[in-house]
Amino acid sequence: MDDIDAIVVGSGPNGMAAAVTLARAGLSVRVYERNPTIGGGARTVELTLPGFRHDVCSAVHPMALVSGFFRRFQLERRIGIIVPEISYAHPLDGGRAGVAWRDIDRTAESLGADGPAWKAFFGPLAAHADEVAEFAGSPILRVPRYPLTVMRLGLRILEQGGPAWNARFAGEPARAMISGVSAHSIQRMPTLATAAAGLVLATHAHARGWAVPVGGSQSIIEAMADDLRAHGGEIVTNTEITSLAELPPHRAVILDVSARSLAAIAGSALPDRYRRALGRFRYGSAVAKVDFALSDPVPWANEHVRTAATMHVGGTRDEMAASEADVAAGRHPLSPYVLAAEPTVFDPSRAPAGKHTLWTYTHVPAGSTLDRTEAITAQIERFAPGFRDTILAHSSQSAVEVERYNPNYIGGDIAAGEPNLLQLIARPVLASDPWRTPAKGIYLCSSSTTPGPGVHGLSGYYAARSALAAEFGLAPPHLGIDGANEGSE
Ligand SMILES: Cc1cc2nc3c(=O)[nH]c(=O)nc-3n(C[C@H](O)[C@H](O)[C@H](O)COP(=O)(O)OP(=O)(O)OC[C@H]3O[C@@H](n4cnc5c(N)ncnc54)[C@H](O)[C@@H]3O)c2cc1C
Repeated sequence: MDDIDAIVVGSGPNGMAAAVTLARAGLSVRVYERNPTIGGGARTVELTLPGFRHDVCSAVHPMALVSGFFRRFQLERRIGIIVPEISYAHPLDGGRAGVAWRDIDRTAESLGADGPAWKAFFGPLAAHADEVAEFAGSPILRVPRYPLTVMRLGLRILEQGGPAWNARFAGEPARAMISGVSAHSIQRMPTLATAAAGLVLATHAHARGWAVPVGGSQSIIEAMADDLRAHGGEIVTNTEITSLAELPPHRAVILDVSARSLAAIAGSALPDRYRRALGRFRYGSAVAKVDFALSDPVPWANEHVRTAATMHVGGTRDEMAASEADVAAGRHPLSPYVLAAEPTVFDPSRAPAGKHTLWTYTHVPAGSTLDRTEAITAQIERFAPGFRDTILAHSSQSAVEVERYNPNYIGGDIAAGEPNLLQLIARPVLASDPWRTPAKGIYLCSSSTTPGPGVHGLSGYYAARSALAAEFGLAPPHLGIDGANEGSE
C-alpha cells in the first residue's frame, strides 16, 4: 500500500478546504468521499426535470465573501459570484414586506419610523463587518483582536437574545426581519444563540452581501477540487470510511464527519474521556427540503421579494416564534417558517430559457419522516398568490432522507450539532484547538467543530493548519492564485 501524508474523509466545503490547505503546503493528500460525487452540503444537480439544476443543500452564501479561508483562497477570482442588491426579504400579509437591502440607508428608509433604530443597531456592525466575521469565525478561547467590535456585537446579542427582543422596533416589518434571520439557527426564539446567528448574518447582509454562485454551490467545490488536483491531491469517491483501519498508511487524518461518526470511526484510538465528551454532544431539530421546477418566476405579491437572495417566509415575528417553538417541542407547525431562494432570477444558466428553480426548506422535529411539500407550497402561496400554477415538478426530502444523503446531518440536523450557546463555545469540546483530538494525527474538521455550520471552509482550514504545525512542523501555506494570500488572520 502507498504511503500518504494526509487523508481527508469527506468532501464537503470543510473537507475540501482542509485538503487544499494541506496540498498547498506540499503534502501528498487523498480525499475519500462516500457519495458518487463530491461537495457534501454544496452540490448542484438535476433533481426535478432535465435542465433544471438545483442546490441539494446550501444555496445562498453569506460567508463566501467574508470567510478567512475563502478570502485567502480568492474565491471571488475563481468563480462567478452574484451579489443581489437585496440580501433577504420577509413577505408579510397584504403585500407588505421587510426588505434588507445591502445599502443600510435604503433599508432604513424603507422601514419608516423604525429606520433610525435599524440603522443605529446594525450600522456600527456593518461598518466593521470584516471584524465581526473575524470574531465569528475564530476559536472562542482566543483573545478578540477587535474588542470594541466584539463589545458592540455582544451588547446587541444580549439585547436581542432576551426579554428586550425586538423592543426597539415598533413595526412588524423590522421585527419580522430580525426574527426571520435569527430563525436560521433552528431553535426556540429568542436565545443568545439565535440572536448571535441572526446578528452576524444580518451584519453581512448590509456589508459584502449574501452571495449566489454562478452555476450553483457546486462551483465553489469544483474550484477547490481544481486547486487540489493542481497541487497533486487525489479524490476517491464511492468510498465510505467506517474505521481508521481501512485507510492506507498516513501521518494525519482529517475527518469531515459528525462528532458522533468521529467516535465510531476512530474508536479506541481516542481516549475514553474524549469519546464520552463526543457522546455528550447534542444534535438539534431538523429540516425537510423541497425543490421546485417552475414555468415562471414566483409571483410574490411584493415586488422587492422577487429580487432578494433569500426569502424568509413565516409571517409575523410571533408566528415564527410559535412555529419554532412547535418544532423544538417535536411538533410540525401548521404555519411553518420556510427559507426560499430563486437563484434563476440572477443566474438563468440553471434552468431552460424562461424557466425557474425554487429552493426551499422548512424546520421539522429531528428524525421526521414527513413530506412537507404541501405545507411549504401553502405558505408560499399565501404571499405569492398563483404560485401553485407555476409548479412544473418538485422533489422532496424528509429529515430522515436528508440524513440518508449525508450522515453528518444526524436526524436531519443540518448544523451537525445543535448551535446552542454551550455548543457554540464547546464545539465539539471546550478547547483552544477544537479540531485536534487527543489522539496523535487525528483531526475533526466538520461543522461539528468551531465555527459551526455554513459554507465557509474555516473548520477545514483551521484543522489543516493545526495538523501542519503539530504533525509536519509546517507553516500555513499561501492559498491564493499566483501565491497571493489575501485576508487577515
Ligand atoms: C438543506 C440545507 C440547506 C443549507 N443551506 C445553506 C445555505 O444556504 N448557506 C450556507 O452557508 N449553508 C447552508 N447549509 C449548511 C451547509 O451546507 C453545511 O454547514 C456545510 O456544507 C458543512 O460543510 P462540511 O464540510 O462540514 O460538511 P458537509 O458539507 O456535510 O460534507 C461532509 C461530507 O462528508 C461525507 N462523508 C460523511 N461521512 C463519511 C464517511 N464515513 N466516509 C466518507 N465520506 C463521508 C459526506 O458524504 C459529505 O460529502 C445547508 C445545509 C442543508 C442540508
